[in-house]
Amino acid sequence: MIDSGGTLIGMSSAALSPALKQATPVVVDYASGSWIHGTDGRDYLDFTTGIGVTSTGHCHPEVVAAAQEQCAKIIHAQYTTVMHQPLLALTDKLGDHLPAGIDSVFYANSGSEAVEAAVRLARMATGRQYIVTVQRGFHGRTVAAASLTTAGTKFSAGFGPLMAGVATTPFPDALRLQMSEEEAVAHALKEFDYLLATRVHPDELAAVLIEPFLGDGGYLAVPPAYLQGLRERTRRHGALLVLDEVQAGIGRTGEFWGHQHTADLVPDVIITAKGIASGFPISAIAAPEEIMARVWPGSQGGTYGGNAVAAAAGVATLGVIEREGLVENSRVRGGELLDGLRTGLAGIEQICDIRGTGLMLGVEFGDPAANAGGPEAADAARLATAVQQACIDEDLLTLTCGPTGSIVRIIPPLVVTAEEV
Ligand code: PLP
Repeated sequence: MIDSGGTLIGMSSAALSPALKQATPVVVDYASGSWIHGTDGRDYLDFTTGIGVTSTGHCHPEVVAAAQEQCAKIIHAQYTTVMHQPLLALTDKLGDHLPAGIDSVFYANSGSEAVEAAVRLARMATGRQYIVTVQRGFHGRTVAAASLTTAGTKFSAGFGPLMAGVATTPFPDALRLQMSEEEAVAHALKEFDYLLATRVHPDELAAVLIEPFLGDGGYLAVPPAYLQGLRERTRRHGALLVLDEVQAGIGRTGEFWGHQHTADLVPDVIITAKGIASGFPISAIAAPEEIMARVWPGSQGGTYGGNAVAAAAGVATLGVIEREGLVENSRVRGGELLDGLRTGLAGIEQICDIRGTGLMLGVEFGDPAANAGGPEAADAARLATAVQQACIDEDLLTLTCGPTGSIVRIIPPLVVTAEEV
């Protein structure tokens, strides 16, 4: 319950867990486009978008109408038992955006579940065990997804034993290594080769899993040459290249998929969720049918995967993104926002980097090398949190991220206007 001042108060028999109470500075009454109207009577510019989810903005009329209409037709039919039209339509729409050859789609509810589905697929399709994941990657909070996550110890500490058959390879982090991008890529690929020579035999390598643009790990673009290096190596060793596009996909970075910033890159598996349905829970993995067919029937999926209302919202979302040119808007508005941040925040010595691609932007505090860990990292994190709080005081919602929390991240909806930017 909420009191007249807009503060969360417990109900008589139950209350939100401490984590939820602490984490909820704003209680929404209603929301529209880029704006959240709080129960405190204030209008907040929402540059969190439910962590990159409400792609078409809050409550886009077409998404709302599609969901409402679908509710009156059928809300749920378990998709391996009874198929429904929204999922067929969503598959068609997604197919318009998938790379040639990636022609088979399977659905779940959340990003983590889709990551798990991709792990299962990779292991069953190759008959091999090892998944190599790239440092600073975030892939979710279920046991398998947390086992693959290296974006911060908080995601797995106290949670083990984690899944076996996982190895980690360094991210080409030019900023922290204080090297050129080219040198950082060469260094990271050498480390990958060393991993295969010393720890994970190539015959045991099922897949390499990477976000094409690091999300929770620090809002860092992945150098195209690194992705190409991983593509070449996975192909050579008969392993799959699995791209986690959960946060970077669906227009977020100014291309429909984050990996499209790397010319001619065709992965084996794409994982998507978040922005695909503007807030309705649905996720998917896509791969060539020949790979997807190697999974035992009945081994993937669950009761609610590919829900009809979420799928209808997904069809409407992709329609709005196409018709309103939102991928282009992401590119243009993102460029304006990045320029504005760089100009407006120039000369502030506590800021070490202002970066971003499309509408996935980050402002990093402190010293990049120190932010990899150590006592100074805590100061940078305190600064980032203080700035986030100051933004709330100015009616602007942002988030923080990075292994030590030193980055303020800015994730506007794809419909954001020049004026809002
Ligand atoms: N993968 C990436 C890249 C993500 O950013 C996230 C969530 O933030 C996930 C996977 C997990 O998705 P979910 O929180 O829907 O389980």
